[in-house]
Amino acid sequence: MASNGGIPVNGLLNGIKKGTTILTAEPFVFVLSQQQRKERCDQCFKSCKISRCAGCQYVFYCGRNCQREAWSIHKVECPNIKRIHPRILPDASRMMARIIIKLSQNGKEERGYYTPQKYRVFHDLMSHVLDIKGDMKKMEHFTALSLILAEFLPKDMLPDVKELLGIFGRMSVNSFNILDTDMTSLGVGIYLGPSIIDHSCKPNCSAIFEGTTIIIRTLCDITSFDWSEVRITYIDVLKDTNTRRAELKKSYYFLCECERCNCPETIEIAAACPNKECTYPCQSRDSHCIKCGEKFSKGFAECFDEVSELSAFHLDKMSHTAYLDTARLCLEKQKGVLHPYNLLVVRMLEMALAAAMDLKRWEDAEKYAAQLTARYLFYFGETHPMTGQVHFVRAKLLSSQKKGRLALEYITKAAQLIKISFGDDHSKMKYEVRPLLDQLLAEYHLEKHQDVTDQS
Ligand SMILES: [Zn+2]
Ligand SMILES: [Zn+2]
Ligand SMILES: [Zn+2]
Ligand SMILES: [Zn+2]
Repeated sequence: MASNGGIPVNGLLNGIKKGTTILTAEPFVFVLSQQQRKERCDQCFKSCKISRCAGCQYVFYCGRNCQREAWSIHKVECPNIKRIHPRILPDASRMMARIIIKLSQNGKEERGYYTPQKYRVFHDLMSHVLDIKGDMKKMEHFTALSLILAEFLPKDMLPDVKELLGIFGRMSVNSFNILDTDMTSLGVGIYLGPSIIDHSCKPNCSAIFEGTTIIIRTLCDITSFDWSEVRITYIDVLKDTNTRRAELKKSYYFLCECERCNCPETIEIAAACPNKECTYPCQSRDSHCIKCGEKFSKGFAECFDEVSELSAFHLDKMSHTAYLDTARLCLEKQKGVLHPYNLLVVRMLEMALAAAMDLKRWEDAEKYAAQLTARYLFYFGETHPMTGQVHFVRAKLLSSQKKGRLALEYITKAAQLIKISFGDDHSKMKYEVRPLLDQLLAEYHLEKHQDVTDQS
């Protein structure tokens, strides 16, 4: 059952400081992503020693407790997962099946509180059924899911088409990505209380997780707190305004009218000024830089479009696996054409960082992390979990290269930021940030001590 959150009730009147937890909730249902199946416990998402469910031999648990907790839903899945073997249930079908199982077990009455008095039940969630009916792609997906479910679920459990479509709609527009402490996705979940929160491309709150528990925290001070003013982001906001709006329309059926969409920052899609000394975000269609007056060469606009398209193409192609060569080549082509803060550059740097990390090329990775740090500060702001995370990554990379003093500087900054974005008592702070901070501090003092003894 969802908790009623940790919000200080009288804090509502006095305003709320940045880095405050305004809501925590347990999932109504959730699914660990298939890629994580052999790495993590299916119930608590912990990455530790896990063992197979003896029944289906498919899901893994960290121990008896999690297996027991999971059983009310898994007891329906278990024999059916076994029956359809070697075929496997795709994540979205498993999610849908779990919702149906949950609803058949009094899930309809489960309340998710977002204030001590106000709550939502599953059927309060928006379903967008009419929008979905008019959306061919979504309907195809729905039909495919229905066929899988008809085969997977016990016959008496399968709802009629109308009910099924309502469930599908609610799942499609209300699912949260459950994120690891490094902000990568581990699975999806539905959270009844938090589903009340609207979207903004420039949000005042963010969602982080502790296992499968969602934690909504403020990114800035909110002077007069009201739930209708709370915003989180539903999508990757490192995309230009047109792309974000199209994505939101396609997945959530609304036209975003947030402050960032209504007055887009031109830097998102800016060109580099031909004058290397000038950092002004130029528009590729202009004849010259309106700041320094330097003229664009003939054919610059075509070159800009070409590089932008190429970058977008490769970013899309690398959405599952990043390749260092490709990312590096694109970054090279972007140089002097796209503005260094153009979002295609930012996302390409993310790819380069991910690829360099995969290849354990720590020096390269550190270089990309450094470039991302400034850009995250610009786009996400100081208090966003992504900004704290990139500082933390940078500190780890510096530390592994034995650049202790610089690493100490970054871990100190990371600790300050993560304390706001995750909170002092979050496991990220306890088990990741503080141990590295302590280690680097100890090394620093030891080094200083040696300096002194060397001198004497
Ligand atoms: Zn577990
Ligand atoms: Zn099982
Ligand atoms: Zn927006
Ligand atoms: Zn200029």
